[in-house]
Amino acid sequence: AIHVKDLRKSFGSNEVLKGIDLDVAEGEVVSLIGPSGSGKSTILRCLNRLEEPTSGTVEVDGFRITDPKVDINQVRRQIGMVFQHFNLFANMTVLQNVMLAPVDTGKKSKAAAREQALSLLERVGLSEKANARPAQLSGGQKQRVAIARALAMEPNIMLFDEATSALDPEMVGEVLQVIRDLAQSGMTLVLVTHEMGFAREVCDRVVFMADGVVCEEGPPETLFANPQTPRLQDFLSKVL
Ligand code: ATP
Ligand code: MG
Repeated sequence: AIHVKDLRKSFGSNEVLKGIDLDVAEGEVVSLIGPSGSGKSTILRCLNRLEEPTSGTVEVDGFRITDPKVDINQVRRQIGMVFQHFNLFANMTVLQNVMLAPVDTGKKSKAAAREQALSLLERVGLSEKANARPAQLSGGQKQRVAIARALAMEPNIMLFDEATSALDPEMVGEVLQVIRDLAQSGMTLVLVTHEMGFAREVCDRVVFMADGVVCEEGPPETLFANPQTPRLQDFLSKVL
């Protein structure tokens, strides 16, 4: 579970998060939507302290990660993150990419990591690409490898920041299917997405951000059908 209280983040004099409160329950699937620059990526990055919050508290599975004494590497191992750009290691095979973190951190032996990587590749539909190099894969395949790589650390929570935005339209579906399977497996997911149809179908709750605050939130059925604030009405009129 995630508990965010009065989270603020400034870059110089630019306050981009202006007091965010956000709770995500174990197994909940939450999507963050909102205009460009509203602070969605900054929130995700504060959840694993890729970005240092200016003030406020972030608690992840009982660890107060904003506490300077917390072992942030231990916390990060419980949180997988997938970005728009996959950043696979080009000089390694798909299998080696997926095995790397568990072996490097001493979490698993090579043999165990290999076995797990093969089963993760099967889960994302890429068994036959285990020995390929990233350059030989399509965008959608690369993103599915990136998801398998994040899952290899056996995180409790996965964060997705526009995981399908850089993909050609015909590749989006295969990546969304993998995310849908994760949602159905009961994993806690926080997704930043522009795929409103997907958010509506898969998420338990949608959080609409505008100008660094949570402007409106609720279950997708009510939020999309019955937006209460002019900001959300305006946003939906542009994206739906
Ligand atoms: P998008 O939908 O375009 O991805 P977003 O909602 O994810 O937008 P953020 O990336 O969180 O928005 O950015 C929020 C604001 O913070 C923007 O005004 C951005 O310019 C600023 N910002 C983000 N990262 C930095 C940084 N490292 N240094 C300075 N300003 C930053
Ligand atoms: Mg962003």
